[in-house]
Amino acid sequence: MALAVSRRATGAGTGAAAAYRASGGAAPTRATGSDSIATRLKIGWRAAGSRQGLLSIGGLPPVPGTLSIAGGSLIFQPAEGDAAIAYPLYRVQVSDGHPVRRPSVTLLGVDPAGRDSIFLFHLEGGVLETATPGVLREVVSQASRVDSLGEAWATNRFALVDPADTAAQLETLQALAATTYADSMFRLFGTPARPLGLVGERGQRAGRLGEYIASRDSISLSPSRMTQAAQLRHALAHELAHRWQKAMPGELRSLWAGVGPIEDSLRYGFGNEQEHQAEAVAFAVHFLQTTAAPDLPTDAALDLLQAYERLVPGTRVMARRLVAQPLYRYHPLASTLLAPARSVAARGDEHAENVDVF
Ligand SMILES: [Zn+2]
Repeated sequence: MALAVSRRATGAGTGAAAAYRASGGAAPTRATGSDSIATRLKIGWRAAGSRQGLLSIGGLPPVPGTLSIAGGSLIFQPAEGDAAIAYPLYRVQVSDGHPVRRPSVTLLGVDPAGRDSIFLFHLEGGVLETATPGVLREVVSQASRVDSLGEAWATNRFALVDPADTAAQLETLQALAATTYADSMFRLFGTPARPLGLVGERGQRAGRLGEYIASRDSISLSPSRMTQAAQLRHALAHELAHRWQKAMPGELRSLWAGVGPIEDSLRYGFGNEQEHQAEAVAFAVHFLQTTAAPDLPTDAALDLLQAYERLVPGTRVMARRLVAQPLYRYHPLASTLLAPARSVAARGDEHAENVDVF
């Protein structure tokens, strides 16, 4: 019952003389600036003049942004003002003594439902959903296409907190616990008996980003193995979901009836229902927090929910369950999500039937 480190988050702690971001002082969480996300979502998938996508970075819920190509790399600029991220479109391997470029992008599937076909690509450490795939489509259909690209490069990632600085790691957790986000999570799922702690040595060796210890009703996190504040928030929601599973196994079972499996074998929770459920809960939380802006068009919000659902099935049922909580009483999607099954579920089913390429 632990959120394991994603394949990509390896850099933390392994790089010699790695530079670390400001440790405990930098508040790891902050209310999402939902207004600008809402503004950008209005543009939808078919933004005139720019390529857009939703990127799931290191297994996290997808965030909107714009896409461009620089050299042999895809550049993703998150809408929310974080630094751009570069993903190399190929790796150089040596074959018969010669360097050969091999694409590092694969097509995971195409969802032809809705107004636009949505392409899902695996990048190294991310999954991109986009209706404007551009050169990515060429790279996956014709490997030699990468030979005509410029140099491939990747952006560096840094640990949130120095792994050698235990005090700074604890400070980061205290700062997290003091946020309105954490307060909201505790209102949804209850407050564990103990304050947030650090994952112990054994859990760290197992690569765990977080743990819920049911016998002590405690949550431990490992901020020094994370590279983004969003991971810390996600891990808190994920571990609290395990607390919910423990407290209400029957409710989870009935909610989960009819939810399909995760199709992507590289995604956390694949082939493990407990972990899949916890991810669906954390995705649902992220969705509800992201769509809290009152001016988000319902259509755009439901498209976005479908984007989450493609990555982690069950996000929709969890979002419907959570939006019924008093915390989300005034959420702009509350009435839509809670409407009798037809309007929301029918829309989802219609999408699901069309997903035939996975
Ligand atoms: Zn877990």
